[in-house]
Amino acid sequence: MTPMVHRLILFLSMMMKYQCDAFFSIPSRSGFKRSEISSNAKYTTLLSAAQSTGDGGPTEFPSASAGKLEELKQEERRLASMLATIRRQKLAVLKARPLTIGIIGFGRFGQFIAKSFAKYGSVIGSSRTDYTHVTNEIGIKFVPLSALESLVVDEDLDVIVIAVSIVSFEETVKELVPHLQKRMEVKGRDSCPLIVDVASVKEHPRKILLENLPEECDICCTHPMFGPDSAARGWDGLTFVYEKTRINKIILDGVAEGPSTNYFDNDDITTIEGMDRVERFLSIWEEEGCRMIPMSCRDHDAFAANSQFITHLVGRILGAQGLSSTPIDTKGFQSVLKLIENTNADSFDLFFGLYKFNKNSGYTIGSLRGALDDVVGELLRRDGVVGVFDNGNRRKSD
Ligand code: NAP
Repeated sequence: MTPMVHRLILFLSMMMKYQCDAFFSIPSRSGFKRSEISSNAKYTTLLSAAQSTGDGGPTEFPSASAGKLEELKQEERRLASMLATIRRQKLAVLKARPLTIGIIGFGRFGQFIAKSFAKYGSVIGSSRTDYTHVTNEIGIKFVPLSALESLVVDEDLDVIVIAVSIVSFEETVKELVPHLQKRMEVKGRDSCPLIVDVASVKEHPRKILLENLPEECDICCTHPMFGPDSAARGWDGLTFVYEKTRINKIILDGVAEGPSTNYFDNDDITTIEGMDRVERFLSIWEEEGCRMIPMSCRDHDAFAANSQFITHLVGRILGAQGLSSTPIDTKGFQSVLKLIENTNADSFDLFFGLYKFNKNSGYTIGSLRGALDDVVGELLRRDGVVGVFDNGNRRKSD
């Protein structure tokens, strides 16, 4: 073989190897490269590894011997029964020391949450409007907002939930502060109830609460991602977002779970009591079946602009078109009408609050406009219309 022929063969074999590698490196559905599963032995090893990556598979292959399935089912029943016992104990602990919860802002949402809270403790509603007919129906007490001092100082409140509109949130907190201070003067510095907000935006109330409340007041910022319409049949499976914002003067770093507990001196009784109180409050939602999501207020607002706000925006836009049912409604159109009904049932104050107090909402509006232009532009292009978004607006043929 001449050196020339030898080099040619070497070159061709390198090219073939390169082509094969390129082909086999196309990722497979399991995430492994095909080149990694070229032999049976290797494949079995990789499959076990894939099973243990947490992709829904067990951590190791159980043996498939006779009786194994029954054994696993027994174990499953044992764990389910343990879980049921723990849940019963949790409920018993919660009910053994029921919370007294004041709700400031007894409108649509305040009333809605009061009905469930009343199953677990004492509830007192407070609002500008007289809602005694509603509180009587639920079987709870009503204190007018004009008597806020009496609610805050005289009542033995563990928690105050602020459920006023987003636009009136700051003003309400500022009115509340002197009464909290008076309560602490009268009843001791550690007597401030846990302050909870339920507003549909999160960074704004977090900032207002941290800037205005006395540092002794613990804060939990929450957003139940549902309301009287979407949760008409109960809260089971519905999402509840929360951030334990401040406990015993320690501002948590925007993450409700995990490392935050390391900040605490776990022997400090004020901290233990504070954590216990926030857990009791969160347990109410948990017991009602909510999907509990710890999340920073910042992350909440970023997600909500592109989910909740856009839903309300589209519902309002479609509602403004005056659409109504026809004799030939498709399922899709029925969903559109439902969206209009649900989003327009909420107050315009709420919708405005979603826009005004979430810094990401303006961007969402901009991208919706852009997307509308893109889609309509594509229709017009196919239809032979040019210059529609400049002043031309003429057909090619004109
Ligand atoms: P809203 O229009 O946002 O708020 C109405 C409530 O705000 C009423 O209690 C009203 O009291 C009070 N309010 C309005 N202006 C006030 C002012 N200047 N001073 C004191 N109170 C004032 O409707 P909403 O649906 O009831 O929502 C309440 C809160 O819950 C909002 O923060 C909202 O983001 C949050 N949220 C609502 C839903 C929902 O599905 N609706 C879901 C999750 C969270 P009066 O009735 O006495 O005037």
